[in-house]
Formats: sequence, C-alpha cells, structure tokens
Amino acid sequence: MTSPLLPTYARAELAFERGDGVWLTATTGERYLDFGGGIAVASLGYSHPHLIDALTRQGAKLWHTSNLFQVPQAERLAARLIEATFADYVFFTNSGAEAVEGAIKTARKYQSGSGHPEKFRIITFAGAFHGRTIATVSAGGNPKYLEGFGPKLEGFDSVAFNDLAAAKAAIGPETGAILVEPIQGEAGIRVASHEFLRGLRDLCDAHQLLLILDEVQSGVGRTGSLFAHELYGVTPDIMAIAKGIGGGFPLGAFLVTREAGKGMTVGTHGTTFGGNPLATAVGNAVLDVILEASFLDHVSAAGAALRKGLLGLRDAHDGVITEVRGEGLMQGLALSVPVADFVAAARVEKLVLVAAGDNVARILPPLIISEAEIAEGVRRLTAACGHFEKRSAALSEAEG
Ligand code: PLP
Repeated sequence: MTSPLLPTYARAELAFERGDGVWLTATTGERYLDFGGGIAVASLGYSHPHLIDALTRQGAKLWHTSNLFQVPQAERLAARLIEATFADYVFFTNSGAEAVEGAIKTARKYQSGSGHPEKFRIITFAGAFHGRTIATVSAGGNPKYLEGFGPKLEGFDSVAFNDLAAAKAAIGPETGAILVEPIQGEAGIRVASHEFLRGLRDLCDAHQLLLILDEVQSGVGRTGSLFAHELYGVTPDIMAIAKGIGGGFPLGAFLVTREAGKGMTVGTHGTTFGGNPLATAVGNAVLDVILEASFLDHVSAAGAALRKGLLGLRDAHDGVITEVRGEGLMQGLALSVPVADFVAAARVEKLVLVAAGDNVARILPPLIISEAEIAEGVRRLTAACGHFEKRSAALSEAEG
C-alpha cells in the first residue's frame, strides 16, 4: 500500500494503537516494551492519569487564544521553569527546532543590541543535531540534511566535539555564541566531557559570548538531573528544550537570562501556537510529576540499574556490543553489527529502540520505568544479540 505521507521517513511496518506505562500495544494486539519513548518524548510513559486529567480538563475549557492575550497556564509553567533553573524568561514553542531557532535569534539580537551586529557567528560541533529548519540544519552542519536545500545559512562554524582547543581556535571577531548539546543524541549518545563543557563556559566568559545549550533531548529529567548541564556545574545563558516537557504533546521552549534576553523586545519574535493553554496545561502536569521530591532520584536509580544491565550485556555479547555510553536514562549501545539490523532484531523481541549515528542504538525509555521493566528490557536485548550470534555461529560452522 502506498502512503499518502510524504516519504521522508523509512517507517517500520508497525503501528501502535494504545500505550500504558512503558508498554505499547500494536494494531495487531502485540505488546512492545518501549525503550525509545517516542525519541525521548514520552517522559511519563503512556496514559499517565495525571496527564490525561490535565489534558481533558483543559481540553474541555479552552485550547487556544493566541499570544495577543494573557495565558495563565503559560505564565505558571514559565514561572516554574524559571524557579527550577538559571533562567529569567521563557518563550514557548511547538518543537525543538523552533526552540533552537529562537535561541539562535536571541543570541544574535543580544550581540547586535550590545553594539556588535558583526558578532552573528555561532560555534557549533560536528555530529550536532538541532532540528530540520534551514537555520537548524545549517547549525547542525550534517551534509546529508543540507544537500539540495540551497545555500547553507551563513554564520555557523563547526568544530570537533569535545575538542576545547578547536573551539577556542574558532573564536574570531564575528563570533557571538557557542551552541552545544551537553550529550549529543542523534550523533549516538556522545557525552561532553566535564573539561569541555566547563571550558566552553570559560571561553564564553572570556570573550563575551553567549553559551547556548540544546537540551531538547537531554533535558527534563532524562539524565537524572532536571537538566544535563547541572551534572557539569555549568550554567548556560540560553537553553532550548522540547520533547520531554510535553510528555507527548508538542511543546518546546527557550529559556534565557535577563541579560541574554535583553534584545528580545515587543515585536522581535512570535508564534501563533506556542505556549497555548492546552500545551502549557500539559507541560505543567509533566512538571507536577518530575518536580516531585523523589522523582529524579528514581530516574538516577533507574539509570544506574539500566547501565549496570547494559554493561553486563556488553561483557556477555562483546561480538555485538562494543561500548555503552550515556547518562541516566539516555544510554547508547555502540554496535559492531549494523544498527538498523539490531533495532529490527529487538523489534522481533518486542522491544522498541531508536537508531542513532555512529552505529549506536539509543535507549531512551519513559522516565517512570521500573527496575523490573529494565531487567525485562535487558533480557530482550540479550535475545536480540542472540540473533547475530546464532548467525555468526552458523556461518563459522559452514566455513569450518
Ligand atoms: N535538538 C536536539 C538535541 C534534538 O535531539 C532534536 C530532535 O531530535 C531537536 C533539536 C529538534 O527537535 P524537533 O524534532 O522537535 O524539532
């Protein structure tokens, strides 16, 4: 059957019709354990009663009014994000790309408003992923995503990730900011070193640059702290978030300090949908759970259990898995077999994984996952490894 959807995705032959906790039920009735979380989005899993309650209550009252009016739900969510972070202001978006786009605009506006319109360039990092708009693919720099879309947007200087000296050498008279993911997700869960992230902060301070963190994937509890940068003791000037903050409802934001946001005055930026009552009611409900006293402790403990299980898996199946990397519930398995084949083998075992660059399978389960469910996932991963071991055993027998 040909799909009427523009074929920009190589979709699996699988559709889900409902979800419950960390489990997804396919249209065939088969149940899958979800180690992908809809690419780090379903932070509270599926059918979370508190989210359903918030969505249906607000859904029955008012969905949208536009940003021409006060939106109390957005005010409340922004105030809570500010209370929990470095930020003084929040701008809500509908996606991660829009959040990064707004962050880029804010940095450029800051520099021009400070008398430096020439400082529009931003240092970025190889392997980065910031979204699919023209500005964010230009910032990401991946030639595959730029090919055929006309000239790359001017103003992004990409250097090697985790290479502080390269970042320092790239600073010029037109540099205004540094944009980095504390943990590169799409690139294959590449974790910034402490020295690197702290060094970037120092470079920004020394050269009057703004540090923009893209925490679209690593944020909102995923690493066991509310935002990954807290693990480093580093504070950004601007941060983009999305994915987990909506728990599955499209919601993103960029957060700024008073100083970094000073150029963003009335009329400088806008959105029709961003921060509408429905989206921000859901965002508030997500925060209700994530900010509960012991929730992040649970994520840290679950992350430690997952990591232990994955390291054991690597030791037992080192012909398939070469490395485990990540923080908390953002983990990656570097593979010696093709990642697409591994993800397919996991699917046969009714386990959902997400492929990433660097031949890595990403594990980004809902943050509510229990240790028993982690153990079950590791069992399914063991079975997935078995697919390749059986194949190579059969091959060597045939050769022998
Ligand atoms: N930034 C990062 C770090 C991401 O991982 C993503 C999406 O995967 C984006 C930005 C873009 O987000 P969206 O797909 O919601 O536009």
